[in-house]
Amino acid sequence: MDLKSLIRDIPDFPKPGILFRDITTLLRDPQGLRYTIDSLAEKCSAMSVDYVVGMESRGFIFGAPLAYKMGIGFIPVRKPGKLPGAVHFAEYELEYGVDQLEMHRDAMASGSRVLIVDDLIATGGTAAATAKLLEQAGCELVGFAFIIELQALGGRQKLPDVPIVTLLEY
Ligand code: AMP
Repeated sequence: MDLKSLIRDIPDFPKPGILFRDITTLLRDPQGLRYTIDSLAEKCSAMSVDYVVGMESRGFIFGAPLAYKMGIGFIPVRKPGKLPGAVHFAEYELEYGVDQLEMHRDAMASGSRVLIVDDLIATGGTAAATAKLLEQAGCELVGFAFIIELQALGGRQKLPDVPIVTLLEY
């Protein structure tokens, strides 16, 4: 399937100079959505994983159905102040800004094997911060999965040395 044809490019969003890769056009396409989740699950099938961790908010969209497909649980990593329980937190830089991510301290038992999922890796800051959250929680990171990798930004160099699954490269 030509997944790339389902991604819409929007120049200068959310600010000048950013070429935004819009996945809403992929999400609304039934075959495209199914193929995306099935392909991620297939590529991750050799990993032994206890939980999928997805980052707010597009990591939720892909992470939860991937966890369902893999027959495991999903844990949300959220923007500050959204989670009701005690949290671990880590700072991160976006391609367009700075922010913080949080995860419940009791989200999973230490030693759990975790796969981090997001729609896209750009600078790698978001995924690297999520890896730090998992380290604080004493979890074992087994891999990352992204629909899209923006290769020119070199984000994967910021990540720990574990397998990285991607479906599309730009
Ligand atoms: P980064 O931390 O730089 O790897 O940025 C990754 C996060 O920012 C992902 O959650 C993406 O959804 C979003 N993002 C960054 N750059 C883009 C882009 N060019 N198009 C769409 N989303 C982006």
